[in-house]
Amino acid sequence: MTKIVGLTGGIGSGKTTVAKMFQELGIPIYIADTEARTFTNQPKTLALIAEEFGTSVIDNGQLDRVEMAKIVFNSPEKLNLLNAIIHPLVGNHFKEWLLQHHAAPFIIKETAILFETRGHLLCDYVITVTAPMDVRISRVQNRDLTSEAEIQKRINNQWSDAQRIELSDFVITNNRIESTLQQVNDIYNKILKFL
Ligand code: ATP
Repeated sequence: MTKIVGLTGGIGSGKTTVAKMFQELGIPIYIADTEARTFTNQPKTLALIAEEFGTSVIDNGQLDRVEMAKIVFNSPEKLNLLNAIIHPLVGNHFKEWLLQHHAAPFIIKETAILFETRGHLLCDYVITVTAPMDVRISRVQNRDLTSEAEIQKRINNQWSDAQRIELSDFVITNNRIESTLQQVNDIYNKILKFL
């Protein structure tokens, strides 16, 4: 059976960068946040979201992500409500995707909130990506043109690195790209050996 390797880490740590390195090695990758975005703009999901949050979060038949972020990153209860709509959809989609990749030795499932949703219990191995907090914040600021305060709110809704590392099989320190690539290669070889 294809093994499931969960890949997680704080915002801006470099999860997607690392996932793409595994992809270069021929490993199928599932980026849960990207899939969730696809689901949020489907009419059925938008209807469920409108029922719960009102129509102010919908703009031109699309989810107004900025408006939604203002609501959910200021209220853990609202974030839970949104997750309760999106997570089952992504969960079912992932199961189907996994069946399509049954021939791979392992797959990478990237998700920012792996432990928070207890998703690690469904993984054979877990990798956490880390980087210093100031580096993470400036990476996301450069990428998304968002404020430090907004990023900090998201960080406050997630587990800390120490909590993640305690439950992880592997930790990648994503600082210099060459070193990250080396760590990915080492973990790739180790996982293949374990199988
Ligand atoms: P998010 O939690 O927001 O989805 P992430 O953990 O997936 O983020 P990435 O999207 O991989 O992080 O990286 C965040 C930004 O930092 C991207 O613009 C990426 O190109 C850049 N980046 C990632 N790793 C490095 C690195 N080692 N050196 C320089 N820039 C990097």
